Amino acid sequence: MNFSDSEIVASLMQDEGYEISGESKDADVVLVNTCSIRDNAEQRVRKRLRELKALKKNNPFLKIGVIGCMAERLKEQLLEEEQSVDLIVGPDAYRDLPALLDKVEEGQKAINVILSTKETYSDITPVRLDKNGVTAFISIMRGCENFCAYCVVPFTRGKERSRDVKTIIQEARDLFENGYREVTLLGQNVNSYFREDDGKQTSFYELLEQVAAVSPQLRVRFATSHPKDISDELLKAIGKHHNICNAIHLPVQSGSNNILSLMKRKYTREWYLDRIAAIRKYIPGCAISTDIIAGFCTEKDEDHRDTISLMNRVGYDYAFMFKYSERPGTIAQKKLDDDVPESVKSERLQEIIDLQQQLSHASNKRDIGKTFEVLAEGFSKKSADFLMGRNSQNKVVVFPKGNYNKGDYLNVKINDCTPATLIGTAT
Ligand code: SAM
Ligand code: SF4
Repeated sequence: MNFSDSEIVASLMQDEGYEISGESKDADVVLVNTCSIRDNAEQRVRKRLRELKALKKNNPFLKIGVIGCMAERLKEQLLEEEQSVDLIVGPDAYRDLPALLDKVEEGQKAINVILSTKETYSDITPVRLDKNGVTAFISIMRGCENFCAYCVVPFTRGKERSRDVKTIIQEARDLFENGYREVTLLGQNVNSYFREDDGKQTSFYELLEQVAAVSPQLRVRFATSHPKDISDELLKAIGKHHNICNAIHLPVQSGSNNILSLMKRKYTREWYLDRIAAIRKYIPGCAISTDIIAGFCTEKDEDHRDTISLMNRVGYDYAFMFKYSERPGTIAQKKLDDDVPESVKSERLQEIIDLQQQLSHASNKRDIGKTFEVLAEGFSKKSADFLMGRNSQNKVVVFPKGNYNKGDYLNVKINDCTPATLIGTAT
C-alpha cells in the first residue's frame, strides 16, 4: 500500500516539475513514506531520519518530509521530536505537498494531516517505481473501518472509501497497453469494495471480473481479503476466469476463538475453516497465505496451540508472521494488558515461523512434477542465465532463460524446490 502511495506521490511531484533522484544525497527533497503498524517499523523510520540529518550537514538546502501513517499518527509531535524534519503530510493530503514545500522553502515548517472521506487519488496516474515493467499495483480503495483491536490503520488512514470503477479499469488498460501483464488490486479489505456510479452498483467480485476482462493476457491478483467478508460469489468468479490468479491471502491472526474475539476480528475459527473449505471447493489448487500475530494480550499456551493446530489444518503455502506490538490509541492499548512476556512472544513466534517453513516446503514439494503457467518477471537473483517468474499460485519459479524474456508467459515443469522457490524448466 505504501509502495503504491509512493507512486502517487512521485506522480504529483513530477507534475510540479520535480524529478526523481536516484540517491538521497543528490536530492533537494527527501520524502520518507512511513508505516506505523508495529513499533519496529517506526523505529526504522527514526533511524533513517538520523541518517538524513547527517546529509543535511553537507546540504543545508535539503528538505526532509515525513509522509504516510507515522506522519498521521504523530502529527506536530514528530516535528518536535525530529528536528531535521521540515514537513509532515498524512496519507490523504498528498495533493497539498507542492504548496507545503513552497512554505518550507520560505523557511517555515509545514504540516497537513487532514483525513478525507472521499480522496482516492483516482485521477492520478502513478509513476511506476518498480521498474520490472511487468507487474503493477492498482489502489482500489483507501482507509479501513474494521477497528481490529490491535490495529492502528483505522486511525492513520481514516474511513474506508472505494475508488470509481472507470478509472480503475482505465489504469488497468493503460498498464496492459504499456506491456504490463499483471496487476494487483489493493485495499485493506478488498471484499468490502463497493461503488455506485451513475446508478450502477459494483461490488468487489464484479470489479474483479471487469478488470479480468481487460485482456486474457492480463493476470489479476488482489490483497487483502478479510475472512468475515469473503463471499462464495468472489470464489466462483476466481474459479471461472483463467487470468484471476489462484492465490488468496486470508489473514487469520490467531487460531483461538478467545483471542479472535478480543481482537474484534468478527469471525470464529469455525467460520474461518468453513471459508477455507469453500476456497478448496470453488478453486481447487488455490494457494492460501495468511498473517499471524503471536502473543496478543492474554494469549495462553492453549490459545497458541490453537494457532499451531489451525496452521496444520489449513497447510498454508505462505505466511507473514509477527510478534504483537502494542500501538498507542488502539482499542487493545486502551482496554487490554499487553501481558505476554517478550520472551514468550519470541518463543511462540519462532515456533510459528518454524512450522510455516515446513508447511511451505511441503507445499512446494507437492508441486514437483507439475507444470505451471509462469509469467516471467526478470532475471533470477543468482544468475543472468535464469529467469524468475510466478505461477498463478504466486509461487516464485526459477528456470533457465532460453529464449524467453520478461513479460512472456510460458509453461514450466517443476523438477526441484527450496522452501521459498520452485525450480524447473520450460516445456
Ligand atoms: N487489512 C489487512 C487484514 O486485516 O488482514 C491487514 C493489514 S495490516 C497492514 C497487515 C498485518 O499486520 C495484519 O494482518 C496483522 O497481522 C499485522 N498487524 C497489524 N497490527 C499489528 C500489531 N499491533 N502488532 C503486530 N502485528 C500487527
Ligand atoms: Fe487493521 Fe483490521 Fe483494518 Fe486490517 S481489517 S487494516 S487489521 S483494522
